[in-house]
Amino acid sequence: MSLEALNKQVKIDLSYLAFGGPNWVRPLSHPEGHVYDVVIVGGGQSGLGAAFGLLRERISNILVIDENREGLEGPWETYARMVTLRTPKHLTSIDLGIPSLTFRAWWEAQFGSESWEALDKIPRGDWMNYLRWFRKVLNLPVVNEVKLKLIEPTDEGIHRLHIEGKGAPSDRLLARKVILATGIQGGGEWHVPPFIAEKLPRHLYAHSSEAIDFKALRGKKIGILGGGASAFDNANFALSEGAAEVHVFVRRNELQRINPIRHMEVSGLIERFQALSDADKYAVIAHFFKYNQPPTNDTFERAASWPGFHLHLGAPWLNVEATDKGAVVTTPQGKFTFDFLIICTGLVTDPALRPELRLVESHIARWGDRYNPPEELANPLLDAHPYLSPGFAFLSRDEKGKKLLYGLFAFNYSGLISCGITASALSGLKYGIPKLVSAVADQLFFDDREEILKDFFAYSEVEFVGEWTKTD
Ligand SMILES: Cc1cc2nc3c(=O)[nH]c(=O)nc-3n(C[C@H](O)[C@H](O)[C@H](O)COP(=O)(O)OP(=O)(O)OC[C@H]3O[C@@H](n4cnc5c(N)ncnc54)[C@H](O)[C@@H]3O)c2cc1C
Repeated sequence: MSLEALNKQVKIDLSYLAFGGPNWVRPLSHPEGHVYDVVIVGGGQSGLGAAFGLLRERISNILVIDENREGLEGPWETYARMVTLRTPKHLTSIDLGIPSLTFRAWWEAQFGSESWEALDKIPRGDWMNYLRWFRKVLNLPVVNEVKLKLIEPTDEGIHRLHIEGKGAPSDRLLARKVILATGIQGGGEWHVPPFIAEKLPRHLYAHSSEAIDFKALRGKKIGILGGGASAFDNANFALSEGAAEVHVFVRRNELQRINPIRHMEVSGLIERFQALSDADKYAVIAHFFKYNQPPTNDTFERAASWPGFHLHLGAPWLNVEATDKGAVVTTPQGKFTFDFLIICTGLVTDPALRPELRLVESHIARWGDRYNPPEELANPLLDAHPYLSPGFAFLSRDEKGKKLLYGLFAFNYSGLISCGITASALSGLKYGIPKLVSAVADQLFFDDREEILKDFFAYSEVEFVGEWTKTD
């Protein structure tokens, strides 16, 4: 089969499913212009999957916006530096159960089934190409180079989205519902420990989520802070780009060996997470947080195979200093001088860190407001997470916030404690998207409940026209 034939198969499959039937949501007019039923912020896998899910629900007055240029949404070809995805290749996600839309169908259509059998993990670039194809074959309504700056709830129950960017049709969009599919950092921000950010000039370090000029680091000595997958991805990438030495520093005395996600993927803990009590949800994610994502075996072997690779265990950074020789890092084992530092310390989640939520975040219920964990589990990083509905809706911590937050959905990693890993990460998207779409559709339906019921009770269109004329 070829990609062309696969595209045809997708069309056939969708037509068999009556995909693209008439939109049932009633249009809303507004003096300021067109009102979208749903605006999805983020054109990555979560945003594309959510758009497909909504279209399957016959909700088609939707728009997806993304701040990046077309084809560069998400981390895959921007700041991700691993050779392959970490997730098992067979996991399905945004295809939402349509075989011809799966990554495997896309791969086999181009490279054949033997090649699929031979494939270990999904190459990063191919995953991005699959997302580009998915968007195209479904003709999803995505506009690029549009950045959401601020969400402004209005009295009419719609949200005014203040936007900017080359692709922005104007300085605002109007939407009844807003889905923040803004990525793994979309519920907070990437984190650089203050002792580094406050002490070092920017030319001496970068967070692993930033663009880094590896050509300029050829022949240089690099220090990397962190023991998770991205530390080894960046070490391998820097060495493959010509860095002379890379030193990875890990606070723990031993590398993480266990990846709890693998257990979650087979135990029902992803798809049935919602059945858990708040106490169990908190305990599960607190346990998950204890385990950073270990490097995959192949990533570790790749990094460790370079002569210039050095690993320092039990070596937290106690201090950093900027000198004319570079960045000096102090550890319990001594001082090290580097030309550049790469900070692989992940992200923190708190709606207060999101500029687009500035007008509403003070009303957003957090886990710290709703659940009091046992002392041994208490973790302020968890407590700062939003306490979402099972459908990823923000909930309010006060009366005033109920109206302001109505219609806002966080379909990103900030849903971790409330909804499990069902947003962002591949492993849970196929479970998260239907829950999100159902919740958004329910709200749209309920918002028009009165008119819909009024029309239903008044419905009098004749269907049966049969006449009985014979007389017995
Ligand atoms: C380096 C790395 C490797 C990963 N590897 C794996 C893996 O192997 N397997 C796995 O399951 N998961 C992995 N993940 C986790 C997760 O799958 C990815 O983060 C994935 O990109 C999440 O998809 P998403 O659509 O939710 O977010 P993204 O792909 O990040 O897409 C969100 C988009 O929204 C845009 N955006 C954000 N804010 C705004 C705004 N205000 N206005 C407009 N646009 C905005 C972003 O620029 C981005 O393009 C990895 C994550 C990273 C960072």
